[in-house]
Amino acid sequence: MMSKLLIKGAKVIDPGQKIEGALLDVLIENGKIAALKRDLPTGDAEVVDGRGCVAAPGLVDMHVHLRDPGFTEKEDILTGCEAAAAGGVTSLLCMPNTRPAIDSPETVRYVLEKSADAKARVYVAAAITRGLNGEALCGMEQLAEAGASAFSDDGRPVADSRLMAEAMQRAAALGRPVVSHCEDLFLSAGGLMNEGAVSRKLGVPGVPAAAENCATAREIALAESYGVPIHICHVSTAVSAAMIRDAQRRGVRVTGETAPHYFALTEEALLDRDADKRMSPPLRTEEDRLAICEALRDGTLAVIATDHAPHTPQEKADFEKAPNGSIGMETSLAAGITELVGPGILTLYQLLERMSTAPARLLGLPAGSLEPGAPADLVLFNHRESWTVDPKALHGKSENAVFKGRTLLGRVRLTVCRGAVVYRAL
Ligand SMILES: [Zn+2]
Ligand SMILES: [Zn+2]
Repeated sequence: MMSKLLIKGAKVIDPGQKIEGALLDVLIENGKIAALKRDLPTGDAEVVDGRGCVAAPGLVDMHVHLRDPGFTEKEDILTGCEAAAAGGVTSLLCMPNTRPAIDSPETVRYVLEKSADAKARVYVAAAITRGLNGEALCGMEQLAEAGASAFSDDGRPVADSRLMAEAMQRAAALGRPVVSHCEDLFLSAGGLMNEGAVSRKLGVPGVPAAAENCATAREIALAESYGVPIHICHVSTAVSAAMIRDAQRRGVRVTGETAPHYFALTEEALLDRDADKRMSPPLRTEEDRLAICEALRDGTLAVIATDHAPHTPQEKADFEKAPNGSIGMETSLAAGITELVGPGILTLYQLLERMSTAPARLLGLPAGSLEPGAPADLVLFNHRESWTVDPKALHGKSENAVFKGRTLLGRVRLTVCRGAVVYRAL
């Protein structure tokens, strides 16, 4: 486990140290980056030929559903971390909509203990309200004490603004971010996909962009009024992105993330009535997609996270009855290279910043840099190699991959977490 590993001749891109592609060797020893230099001697280290590949800090995915405890037929902590490792993700933040919900110190500890030796580092977003019921706040101080890194009610957003304001202030005092899934449940009720041309064509009820926009507006208003931070999850609409940009210019402490499916796909992808591409918020219009790309480019959205949400094939069989969510940890880097770096929206450096260094800083995690002395969490990938996404070949228990069948550019070759190789395709 703790042997020496030497990655030779890779192009190092490390936004944590502003290294933009120097050809360096990376020596990993005792779970740490021991050296980052040209032509390091091999000594007794195992050598990995990194030529032609990029070495970067392991990805940090701040929006993941591990389904454990309670829904382990979909995924569990260990299988979810296998999918993470195969995608180059070495740190992830898991959401609390489990059974029981992660709303007690015991459940926080369960997740942290079960993930102690997993193939990725697991950080916990604990619930804001008890049982995610939106009615009474959790003991946020006790949850933080037990190891919660953030707070969220994710898919069941806190409708009571007074309660949300109190949660944001208590979280701010604890130095833990609140990550908010923005959805006005009255506006979205009954909707299966974006309300628009495609939903009308398919004759299915829609979720208007307004459902997300109204909730984003409230979170910004609370953050501004109370002078506390808020992080907006999985932004999918042009209006939400514009509101976040405008608020940031006023100095509001609002940050935002989006997911690969929102910058890569639109509602048109649902014309084949495939429930694997149904998620919340839903895939939107081309105008929204372009606005999300622009918000990533100008830094309004500083983070890319996946909202990796496993469901069984049985659950996803019926387009209209299926639960929301798609898996994405194994395809996020490639989707970013294909859809953002390829067309020149982001450089590879900026992509890695949004997928590693920025979320690590936002959550205050020891990740996002290959600085000597830092934990040895690293991804080695070939950014020029293409592959076709076969859901059966992916890791984890579920197959509801949003990019299935697509040919993407950028293949993970090696993932190192805590100094140990957790994924290898060399
Ligand atoms: Zn959500
Ligand atoms: Zn989610």
